[in-house]
Amino acid sequence: MSSHEIDDGELTPGVDDHEPTGSDADHHTFWADAVADEILARDPEEPIVIKGGVSPSGIPHLGHFNEILRGFFVAEVLRERGHAVEQVFTSDDRDALRAVPRNLATEDWEIVGLGAVDGGALGRNLGVPYTDVPDPFGECHDSYGAHFAGLLRDSAELIGVPVTFESNTALYESGRFDDAVDTVLASDDAASVLADYQASATADDVPFMAQCPECGHLTPDVSEPDLDERTVAFACTGMEAGDDEIDGCGAAGRVSLREGKLPWRFEWPAQWTTLGVDFEPFGKDHAEGSWPSGEEIVQTVFEAEPPVPFVYEWFTLGGEPLSSSSGHVITVSEVMELVGPAVVKYFFLRNPGRAKDFDVSRLDQLVDEFDRFERLYFGEEDGPEELTALADRAYPLLVDEVRPDRVRLPYTFAAVLGMVEDRGFRVQMARDEGHIDDDTPEWAIDAALERVERARRWAERTDNAYNYRLHRDRPAHEFDAATRAALDDLADFVAAGNDGEAIQGEVYETAKRHDVPVGEFFEAGYRLFFDDTQGPRLGEFLGELEREFVVERLRRDG
Ligand SMILES: [Zn+2]
Ligand SMILES: [Zn+2]
Repeated sequence: MSSHEIDDGELTPGVDDHEPTGSDADHHTFWADAVADEILARDPEEPIVIKGGVSPSGIPHLGHFNEILRGFFVAEVLRERGHAVEQVFTSDDRDALRAVPRNLATEDWEIVGLGAVDGGALGRNLGVPYTDVPDPFGECHDSYGAHFAGLLRDSAELIGVPVTFESNTALYESGRFDDAVDTVLASDDAASVLADYQASATADDVPFMAQCPECGHLTPDVSEPDLDERTVAFACTGMEAGDDEIDGCGAAGRVSLREGKLPWRFEWPAQWTTLGVDFEPFGKDHAEGSWPSGEEIVQTVFEAEPPVPFVYEWFTLGGEPLSSSSGHVITVSEVMELVGPAVVKYFFLRNPGRAKDFDVSRLDQLVDEFDRFERLYFGEEDGPEELTALADRAYPLLVDEVRPDRVRLPYTFAAVLGMVEDRGFRVQMARDEGHIDDDTPEWAIDAALERVERARRWAERTDNAYNYRLHRDRPAHEFDAATRAALDDLADFVAAGNDGEAIQGEVYETAKRHDVPVGEFFEAGYRLFFDDTQGPRLGEFLGELEREFVVERLRRDG
């Protein structure tokens, strides 16, 4: 992902705030409406093409979904307005492998270290296009590039976004890029335009990288392009990758213009013209780098217009940048297991121009925010005017179907239910808390319980205060006389109908009255319910459970 790594530049503003050309006054409440206005103002041919893209350099992660979900919202808005839209995603897979990643993901999303694969083979393929690097996991795909592009495609499917994948390598090999390559190499201006933007480029460069037929490495050492024969002379003299130098094999000769690639700053505009791209979101690194040069290149070299741009802000994961190569990532499949597609889409819907953090330890807050957004849409809660307007406009894009009778269990409550394995018990608890009643349809109960499974995975993954399991059968433990008397007292207090907070306070009081050290009394409670020496806030947890069950357990009956 040479062209898509994260940096720490200044925040770049998003698209200009154009006046809407549509008729609805609420267009500006949702950024995707403003973008759609801007696209339609250009009177594009249909289908309107919305693109994203990355190099398949390593583990696809949630950060890559900036490239897919920003486009998704714009595509949906255009479809609502009756336009045909195609969302495409380029796998920039003729880029060279420039560094051996520390972590990889198998086709089943298992994250493994370099030790699990032939790291030496990867090292020998530095400088080779991703599609010519063998799949590190053997036979599951044709190449390294195909492996990681495959995972990305799976992620898009998981989240329910229809995307057409285009391989750059296939675009070169099939000849679909021929016109673009010829245009760049025939241009008197191409090299000098780039030299204005890139210190390392000169006006005498031939803007092409050949792939050495002997060793498979890309080399920028090319000369004498012949546009009739469609060949170029090359010398395999190596390339730079960051601070490292990747050696070439020394071979020289001529290769076809289909055996190689345009440098990224030309390849991006080549994608726009070849695929007819009308809109493309990109991270702020591009906003300062390849976008301004791409804009000028497409206008002066290709004599075409660039797509409508949209700059998004990167988000961090637990305060640190996501990075495929270091393995500080969360994959889409993991996130789907924890929160589900609607919440993931919501995360990308809000404030695309603002820096955000994806904090797995506080996923409850993100889910609570989503739930509130949903309640605002259904008019079940009052909120700030702007947010309510956004919910009215955009909430339906987050869900498969707008269903007012849907039941959302608060995420932390779902985590409490996750401490209980039995489905009937979970339903009873949700009923006791008033989330489910006799009118709740069966599908809504099932859907609500899916969140219990997710919150349970969250508790296990983060080993947080909900990572305990209630034992339905009483664990065998003996208690001394004072503890037994205190438990009986506490049972009476629960039987009297007190709520969780009151029970929590009474645990302390009861322990004191019976001269049982408070810590030991809590431990007695945890042993009774969890067969453990620690657990969640006991009183509040007991307050969530069925009263009869709690009383019986505290009395050590049953
Ligand atoms: Zn594979
Ligand atoms: Zn070579």
